[in-house]
Amino acid sequence: MSNAYSDFHLQPIAGEWREGSSERTVEVLNPYDGSQLLTARLADRNDLDAAFTAAEKAQAEWAATPPSARAALMQRVVGIFDARKEEIINWLIRESGSTRLKANIEWGAARGITQEAASMPGRVHGMTLPSDVPGKENRVYREPLGVVGVISPWNFPLHLSQRSIAPALALGNAVVVKPASDTPVTGGLLLAKIFEEAGLPKGVLSVVVGAGSEIGDAFVEHRVPRMVSFTGSTPVGRGIGRIASGGEHIKKVALELGGNSPFVVLDDADLDQAVSAAVMGKFLHQGQICMAINRIIVDENLYDAFVERFVERVKGLQVGDPDDMATVVGPVINAKQREGLEVKIASAKQEGASVLLEGEVNGQLVPPHVFGNVTPDMEISREEIFGPLVGIQKARDEAHALELANATEYGLSSSVFTASLERGTRFARRIKAGMTHVNDMPVNDEPHVPFGGEKNSGLGRFNGDWAIEEFTTDHWVSVQQTPRDYPF
Ligand code: NAP
Repeated sequence: MSNAYSDFHLQPIAGEWREGSSERTVEVLNPYDGSQLLTARLADRNDLDAAFTAAEKAQAEWAATPPSARAALMQRVVGIFDARKEEIINWLIRESGSTRLKANIEWGAARGITQEAASMPGRVHGMTLPSDVPGKENRVYREPLGVVGVISPWNFPLHLSQRSIAPALALGNAVVVKPASDTPVTGGLLLAKIFEEAGLPKGVLSVVVGAGSEIGDAFVEHRVPRMVSFTGSTPVGRGIGRIASGGEHIKKVALELGGNSPFVVLDDADLDQAVSAAVMGKFLHQGQICMAINRIIVDENLYDAFVERFVERVKGLQVGDPDDMATVVGPVINAKQREGLEVKIASAKQEGASVLLEGEVNGQLVPPHVFGNVTPDMEISREEIFGPLVGIQKARDEAHALELANATEYGLSSSVFTASLERGTRFARRIKAGMTHVNDMPVNDEPHVPFGGEKNSGLGRFNGDWAIEEFTTDHWVSVQQTPRDYPF
C-alpha cells in the first residue's frame, strides 16, 4: 500500500492533476473545530470543458474494454476501500463532521455499491423482439450513455458520489463529478485517487471543484454529458431538470432530492422498538440525511408514553466531538445550515409547538430539540428540517395517521410501526413515497434495492438493476435478413 493521500489542492481534470483555473479559491473547514483542511483554486468553465471533452474522448475506448476487465477494476477499488478504511473514515469525520458511527456506515455503503457495480458489466442484457415485417429481426442493445455528469451533496459525500460513479463507470460510461463545495475531498478527490490507484485509464473520471452557483448551469448545459445524475435539494434539482430537458442539449436526468419522512406509530406498535428506531432515524448524522425522520406521527393512545420514553432517550445522547466514539450528535456542516435550524426552532416556538427538549447552540453544535403538539401546517412539518430537530404529531386513528403522513410535497422515505405485519404492509402501500419501512426507521439503503423518491423528492432509482437501467440506454437495431418488398 502506498502512502496516505494527503495533498488535495489539485484536481484530476482531463487526465492530469492540476490547479483549478479560476482566480477564486475554496476553503474547506472542519465543521467541528473550524480548522482549515484545504484551500484550493476553483475550477472554472474552461476546466469543465476540458474535463467533458477528455471524458468524451476516453469513453469509447473504456466502453470497449472487456466487461471482466471493468469488473476487475471495481474489485480493485473495493480492495483499496478495505486497505484505506481508516484514512477514508478519518476524512469523513474531519471534512463532513460525521461521527465515527456514521463514517463507518458511509464507508460500508460506498464499498457495498462498488461491490454491486463490479457485478454489473456481466449483467447488462439486450433482447430480440418479433417483427411484423417478413425477414426482419428486431434486436435491442443496451449501451452506455456516453459521459455522465454527477453532482453530489455534502451530507453523505463519499457514498452519494460513488453510487453514481461506480455503476456508471462499470457500465462503460466516462464520468465528470462536481462535488459539494463543503466536501470536495470525500465527495470526489479521494475517490479519484482510489480509481487512479486501481488503474482506471486517464480522462475517464474527472473531478471539477467549483461552486454550484458559478459553474452549475454550465455543467448541466454542456453538450457532452448525456445524463446528469444530481443528488441535492429540491430547488436546485428543479432548475437542473429544467435545463436538462429544455436547454439546447437535451439529456437524461436523475434527480434524488429532498425528503420529509413521516415516522408513524400505530396504536398496537412495540413502543421500545419504535422509540429506538425514532432516535436513530432522527439523530444519525445530526438529522442531515434525506431519509431522516422529519415528522413523528403517533396514535393518540400511545402519544404520552411515546413522548416520555423518546425524550428520555434523546436527553442521553452525547453532543460534541464527532471523533469521540461516544458522540452521537456532531456538528452541522456549516454556519448557514446552523442559522437555518435556528430559524426553524424559533418558528416552531412562535407557531405554538410545545418545547419538550431544547439546548444551547454552541458553534456548529446544535443539540437535539423535540417539539410536541405539532400540527401539519407548522414550518417544521411542511419543510425539510435536515438537522437534529423534530416535531411529534398526534393522530386520532390509522386513517388520520395516513392523512398526516401524506400531507407533504415530498415522497422519499417513510416508516410505520405496528404489531401486525399485514396492517403495516397495507399502510405502507398507501403512503405516497418511493420507500417505506415497516417496523424500521426510514434511513435504509442497500446496494441492490431500488432507492429513490416520488413527488418533489425526485425522479429515477439508484442501485442494482435500477442503476443498470439508469446508466445505460436502449438501441433498437433491426436487421432485414431477406429482401423487403416495398410498395413504391
Ligand atoms: P444543494 O444545495 O442542492 O447542493 C447539492 C449540489 O448541487 C452541490 O454540489 C452544489 O454545489 C450543487 N449546486 C448548487 N447550485 C447548483 C446549480 N445551480 N447548478 C448545479 N449544481 C448546483 O444541496 P445540499 O445542501 O448540498 O444537500 C442537502 C439536500 O440534498 C437536502 O435537501 C437533502 O434532502 C438532499 N439529499 C437528497 C438525497 C437523495 O438521495 N434523495 C440524498 C442526500 C441529500 P455547491 O456545494 O458548490 O453549492
